[in-house]
Amino acid sequence: MPVIHLEKVTKRYTEEGRTLYAVRELSLTIEQGDFVFLIGSSGAGKSTLLKLMGGEISPDEGEVYLNEVNIGKSFGPWRTRITRSFGIVNQECQLIRKRTIGDNLLLTAAAAGMRRKGKAAARKALSIVGLAAVENCYPAELSLGECRRVELARAMVNSPPILLLDELTGNLDDDNIWDLMHLLNELNSRGTTIVMATHASQYVNIMRRRVVTLVDGRLAGDVRNGKYGRIV
Ligand code: ADP
Repeated sequence: MPVIHLEKVTKRYTEEGRTLYAVRELSLTIEQGDFVFLIGSSGAGKSTLLKLMGGEISPDEGEVYLNEVNIGKSFGPWRTRITRSFGIVNQECQLIRKRTIGDNLLLTAAAAGMRRKGKAAARKALSIVGLAAVENCYPAELSLGECRRVELARAMVNSPPILLLDELTGNLDDDNIWDLMHLLNELNSRGTTIVMATHASQYVNIMRRRVVTLVDGRLAGDVRNGKYGRIV
């Protein structure tokens, strides 16, 4: 059964009286357990597509489904259930600077409805990304690579079946990107669905996963065992 299905989805913005299509008539199905690299030049619509998939924004036309439930038409407990299916890392760092890493994860766990188990879940997520030791540190004390891994831990704290990752590898050096790719591979092999927008072409080519290419908001390519820049 498909996990995420987009049916002729369009998202547009109006700027200075001009209509701009961020995503245009895009249909796509992401199956349970897929590992998808979302590629395309800056402004191609990758972030918008991730936000549409995770229900952070709604389409102007078309529908987005999670397990056949229309995300845009879900409210109350249905909506909560849907949002908890996604672990999301956005381009902007979402860690609260005045809280320790442990507290940051605990807040996310609480928002996901985890009460007594929150602390154990936060510790487990940190240990999965290899950063159990930073629980009592503040975000400013971490390197950029560590921060991105903590954000991944934060996204994983309630063990969501789907991770939506926007430029997780941006501005990282090769060692850090490689560590993250290994980690994502491992999570995916345990069943987590991963959709990741990235410019890390070298790694996309080595990993040979599904590659979805966007050009001007449209689907330009969707290739299994794909390579960066190949659309067929
Ligand atoms: P990418 O992630 O591939 O760089 P985005 O999804 O961020 O692309 O953006 C696609 C297009 O939509 C860009 O032209 C961008 O300027 C525009 N866009 C995205 N979000 C907004 C917004 N909130 N308001 C206005 N325009 C936006």
